[in-house]
Amino acid sequence: MKTTTKFSSISIIWLLLLTANLPTSLQAQNEDRNTDFFGNSISNPENVCRHSAATYSEEAEAIVKEILSKVSLEPQFAIAECPGTDNCKATLIDNVPYIIIDQAFLEELKGIDFTQSKLPTDERDWAKICILAHEVAHHLKGHVSNPIIRQNKTPRERELEADEFAGFILYKMEASLSQAQSVMYSHKIPEKGNYTHPPRSQRLAAIKIGWERGKAETKVVVEEKIVEVEKIVEVEKIVEVEKIVEVEKIVEVPMDQPVPEGMVLVKGSTFMMGCIEEQGDSCTYGEKPVHEVILNDFFIGKYEVTNAEYAAFLNAKGKKTKDVEKWIDLNSLWGIEKKGKQYVVKSAYENHPVINVTWYGATAYAKWKGMRLPTEAEWEYAARGGHKMTNTKYAGSNDLDKVAWHEKNSSDKGYGHSDYGTHEVGTKVANELGLYDMSGNVEEWCSDWHDYSYYKRSATNNPKGPRFGKSRVVRGGSWNNNPTYCRVANRYYDSPTTSYSLVGFRLASSL
Ligand SMILES: [Zn+2]
Repeated sequence: MKTTTKFSSISIIWLLLLTANLPTSLQAQNEDRNTDFFGNSISNPENVCRHSAATYSEEAEAIVKEILSKVSLEPQFAIAECPGTDNCKATLIDNVPYIIIDQAFLEELKGIDFTQSKLPTDERDWAKICILAHEVAHHLKGHVSNPIIRQNKTPRERELEADEFAGFILYKMEASLSQAQSVMYSHKIPEKGNYTHPPRSQRLAAIKIGWERGKAETKVVVEEKIVEVEKIVEVEKIVEVEKIVEVEKIVEVPMDQPVPEGMVLVKGSTFMMGCIEEQGDSCTYGEKPVHEVILNDFFIGKYEVTNAEYAAFLNAKGKKTKDVEKWIDLNSLWGIEKKGKQYVVKSAYENHPVINVTWYGATAYAKWKGMRLPTEAEWEYAARGGHKMTNTKYAGSNDLDKVAWHEKNSSDKGYGHSDYGTHEVGTKVANELGLYDMSGNVEEWCSDWHDYSYYKRSATNNPKGPRFGKSRVVRGGSWNNNPTYCRVANRYYDSPTTSYSLVGFRLASSL
């Protein structure tokens, strides 16, 4: 896995740093101390600790090691006890990366039971692990030891990056999203932020992004196991009923119907859906069997729905209903916020795709526009270029960078880089139909329930997905997904009530 490679290359540097014997008592000679990352929290210029010297602690190291082993990480930095520290901090002592830790916080960590196969369910314990993971992340990202990174990122960007990585670690440790975010409520973390730390809402959003990334990396593997079990209990009867219900007549439609603004006409035909040759050996679970699908003509949005468009919907429809909470999570870094009674887009993000919108939020918007979401089959057909398809791996090209904002050219750049996050819609090359961002930028909700085994029993004519399900289909990959998710055949899913900074949608409509 990509992340593992990252860890190990960084680990080597730390191993080298740690080859010298560590002193047992450390008088700080931190060159950086006056402009230290921790700003005013380190008050004694003679010592990184407030009241006395830091003491190298084998015991503390053992605990941190135990936690990190849960995510297959080796702590390649030293741990020292440091009285008067606010919980724990990442720092440099004699150019050695250290996490200094207060005795009281150490005692709290000791109280967490790691003997069970799973980690704790108590949110307070997760909060402590989150604090530690945040400091670990500062080291993993080189915030303290790498002068170039320190210079190129503002303290706030470094903090958000650490929060994001903490979210990633916590997902890998099997924390739920609310457990991963619990530290932001259970500790004294100011709503409006402070000198070095950004406002809580931004920190919550950053933890969420990291947690989602952990989930994205893990999800397919987990789902494969679940499907294996489900296959055994698959009921033939339901399959029969679905086939009868879903077969629809192909209707001949006159082609002179005007194309709605912002939409593209996709002329229906027969196509092969699923894992075909141009996908190489990248196909993941659920893309087989390849099967024939026949679609009617339809319209599909040229662009993903933008923040500005969605804010207009909220201002028209959201003021007198509580449903807004079910439609969109307004705690996002690059989206819509509420100012007084108005829903406004954060400056410069007007033409970015709307994110953190639930499947219900997407369908409510579509309904308001007199349209609907595309079916999974329509989405794939349109991504492949519809009646103009040229059989490419991604929507419009085999060269992903040409057509998509994805992990390698977005999230990998890191916080503070101008390419980090979502991008204005339509800034990459369009596919054969003139559709933008079908691959990358944000994943897109489709109308179908999701089921990895659906292709085995899909209707041929205008399939609409399974009749029942728990998750809805999302397609196309995002700025925070690796290339395989951006393939035209890739299938993915999320619970319809969840909202992610990776997921938006585009409109479709029948003729
Ligand atoms: Zn920090």
